[in-house]
Amino acid sequence: MTRVSRAPFVFILEPLNFSFTPVHKKPRICRTLIPLCASRERGADSAAPGHVRPPVQRKPSSHGASRRSAMKKSFSQEQVSFNSPVSRSPSVAIIGGGISGLLCAATLEERGVRSTVFDTGVHGLGGRMATRALVESQQHLVFDHAAQFFTASDARFQKLVEKWMSEGLVREWTGAVGILEAGGRFTTIPSSTAKYIGIQGMRPLADSLQKNSNSVQIIRPCWISKLEPFNGMWHLTENRNPRGSFDAVVIAHNGKCANRLLSSSGLPQLFRQMKRLELSSIWALLAAFNDPLPVPRDGDSNALEGAFVKGVDSVSWMANNTSKLFPLQNGNGVPQCWTFFSTARFGRRNKVPQENIPSVTAERVKVEMLDGVESALGLSRGSIPPPFYTRVQLWGAALPTNTPGVPCMFDPYGRAGICGDWLLGSSMEDAALSGISLGNHMADYFQCGDGQPEEFSVGLHDSFGAVAGHDIGHFPGLDFIEPVLDLVGDSVQ
Ligand SMILES: Cc1cc2nc3c(=O)[nH]c(=O)nc-3n(C[C@H](O)[C@H](O)[C@H](O)COP(=O)(O)OP(=O)(O)OC[C@H]3O[C@@H](n4cnc5c(N)ncnc54)[C@H](O)[C@@H]3O)c2cc1C
Repeated sequence: MTRVSRAPFVFILEPLNFSFTPVHKKPRICRTLIPLCASRERGADSAAPGHVRPPVQRKPSSHGASRRSAMKKSFSQEQVSFNSPVSRSPSVAIIGGGISGLLCAATLEERGVRSTVFDTGVHGLGGRMATRALVESQQHLVFDHAAQFFTASDARFQKLVEKWMSEGLVREWTGAVGILEAGGRFTTIPSSTAKYIGIQGMRPLADSLQKNSNSVQIIRPCWISKLEPFNGMWHLTENRNPRGSFDAVVIAHNGKCANRLLSSSGLPQLFRQMKRLELSSIWALLAAFNDPLPVPRDGDSNALEGAFVKGVDSVSWMANNTSKLFPLQNGNGVPQCWTFFSTARFGRRNKVPQENIPSVTAERVKVEMLDGVESALGLSRGSIPPPFYTRVQLWGAALPTNTPGVPCMFDPYGRAGICGDWLLGSSMEDAALSGISLGNHMADYFQCGDGQPEEFSVGLHDSFGAVAGHDIGHFPGLDFIEPVLDLVGDSVQ
């Protein structure tokens, strides 16, 4: 196959060469209504051959609009269709710098396609592969505060894990990880499936994915608030500031932000699929203790390092970051940094706007989660010494509870795709595979999509099924863990 050339970045402002076609209730119609291919004359209007429409006046951004108005737009928005031939040196905007967006960029780069990744992260890239490092009371504290560990079942992901291991970024987690039943009964998970962790936490893995890259540009912190098709390109805006024009766009995030972006962008099929997604909410409590927590031990007398908690409403997972990440320091007078996650049920019951958590809610959640830790460990109430540092955070769009079970979505007429964990399941591996798949799919499209764009349509009509797994995700290979997830997620507005 011919590779897409690596010509330098050029902004191409062409004559009007896109069209909007009303989307009927059955989205499939769009495929037959929009015969777009390279053989068509540039600038010709695909819906009405021979007639060039005047520029379409786009409505103002839906950012800040009410849910109702966003819904209305979703039903009335029209399909954008680019009808110019695909650029010989395409550039792609990827909105989201989690593992899926970064691997989509890396895969595009391998295939000779340039991209720019936009991410909101203030502290760094990685999204839900987040590690928080801070100094409190002159002590260095480190917490993985979303993804805790991962398994690798697919050869493509295993290859990446091996690369990370060879670079000294990942190792197997050999500490005592298991199931903790309320009351303190701890059983380790048999170790036939490797459990991996980031040696310095998860975030450096994300950073490693864009190092030494020639044709991936990273822009952060940046919150893309608007997507507009014009003159054959996607124009991105951050709060009225232009952020560039691109031949194609990737949505590598989900939740409210993605729904807002898609609600008026001219991609109704992608929007409809995104709106079907349901997500759980999970509270994270990060807590540092001066003295070790009194945790149970496994059969070999190793102290619990990580546990899926059963039978406690406010806690579904607990892990000692200090022993996980810095085993030589644990127990040597350094503080223990613990990550506790609530159940999805507790998250839903105590949901508040995650950007603006009322202090009373934060305090109540902290108290209830610490109570839950005591119940899980079989300790009497108030027996855990108070932590000297705590922080609560709500992951309002934590994990998908339903999935279309497709590797990625791509709308070839709108030259827009979606990748992310939710397309396949709810894990880092799922997110990685989705990003790789979309990168390859788009590179194939750039090579030969002009002739038969409809052949490149993926995932636009697939129905959704429930995600199997635990409250904090699916761990292929550890499937014998009883699913404890309360699978009713929240619809995202
Ligand atoms: C509490 C919790 C625990 C978990 N534990 C595990 C675990 O132990 N093992 C495991 O395998 N998985 C775990 N997961 C799941 C795993 O973290 C995710 O599946 C994976 O990281 C998702 O990657 P992603 O690229 O799809 O999305 P994300 O990581 O969410 O990346 C999306 C990025 O897009 C950015 N963004 C959003 N909107 C915009 C915008 N408008 N403009 C620019 N940027 C934007 C976001 O800030 C984010 O950085 C956990 C998740 C949570 C919440």
